[in-house]
Amino acid sequence: MRLNQHYKAVKESYLFSTVAKKVAAYQQAHPGADVIRMGIGDVTLPLPRACVEAMAAAVAEQGTKEGFRGYGPEQGYDFLRCAVRDYYAEKQVGLDADEIFISDGAKSDLGNMLDLFDQDNVVLVPDPVYPVYVDTNTMAGRMIRYMDANAQNDFLPMPDSAADVDVIYLCSPNNPTGAVYDRAQLRQWVDYARSKHAVIFYDAAYEAFITDPELPRSIYEIEGAKECAVEFNSFSKMAGFTGTRCGYTVVPKGIGADGLSLNKMWLRRQTTKFNGVPYIVQRGAAAALTAEGQAQCRENIAYYLENARVMSDTLSRLGIWFTGGEDSPYIWMRCPNGMGSWEFFDFLLEKANVVGTPGEGFGVNGEGYFRLTAFGDKDKTAEAMARMERLFRQR
Ligand code: PLP
Repeated sequence: MRLNQHYKAVKESYLFSTVAKKVAAYQQAHPGADVIRMGIGDVTLPLPRACVEAMAAAVAEQGTKEGFRGYGPEQGYDFLRCAVRDYYAEKQVGLDADEIFISDGAKSDLGNMLDLFDQDNVVLVPDPVYPVYVDTNTMAGRMIRYMDANAQNDFLPMPDSAADVDVIYLCSPNNPTGAVYDRAQLRQWVDYARSKHAVIFYDAAYEAFITDPELPRSIYEIEGAKECAVEFNSFSKMAGFTGTRCGYTVVPKGIGADGLSLNKMWLRRQTTKFNGVPYIVQRGAAAALTAEGQAQCRENIAYYLENARVMSDTLSRLGIWFTGGEDSPYIWMRCPNGMGSWEFFDFLLEKANVVGTPGEGFGVNGEGYFRLTAFGDKDKTAEAMARMERLFRQR
């Protein structure tokens, strides 16, 4: 037996465990402290009613002779693929239902998609980054190039025509920075990818948070993207499905190389290695895309975006530089007074009892930055911001 040696190169992630340890130690030392957590990337509001009712009805169906369903189509039931197709049509994006593949979430697909790509491909990822892009490629032994996201480019790196790459990761709205690419910027990326015969992995997991009609919610809003981009999306943040698990990936039929079609390869891969998402869950996801479900999802998203607004307003008043907070549940702030990420983490925990995520956990360009999330409770968010305001006004 010989094991995959590339796993030795996968860095241990100490970020969230260190955060948890530090918070636990603080609480033990200060049992009365009211610690407010603004570091989590998970939703907190319950599922939309439409989804709950659809899943309850599907459970009941599974308990009847006529309604029972066993194995379903690996790539998803037609009712959900068509609902996703119609969701894109509302964004003026025309897709065929067989370009949409239902899965148990964007994370799995982001990793699994790499099955279809040669190990010798060079991948380009932004720094700071959602760590899954880096770790999945490291596990496969692929060479990773980093592009700098920093205050100079508003954490939205643009193509470097000199570099040779095969797979480009873009995430917009971005985790961790909350930054969102506009149409002109995405057009440059699409043109670049086509000129390099590269593929873009476009992670749109937070697209439902975009309310500005000028900002693209899908890369396919850009002409030519169907020849070069795979789009990953999820019901996790749109409909609160982080624990329920459902996502989808769009693999257009226009992408291929060496006589192979990416769409056909993905279908082959999924039908071989995946047995589909539960019928019950797919019914819940489809309900999220109905008019009623969308209205309920938008209500929840508006709640989080209002938290983000309260946070952005506070930071603006304090003169602290940040990205995100609009069209995104994330706020990426520069640590005040030149503090390092972990230094600021300790400072904020001690002086305000507020917990966030140190930016350096997302890459070297994250040093000196800090991620706050808007997924918390409204009153607690307001209280955390009031504490920050008091803390930084005094200084
Ligand atoms: N992509 C990004 C950028 C994320 O932040 C997350 C989850 O936090 C995911 C994908 C994973 O989504 P899912 O829950 O669909 O696996």
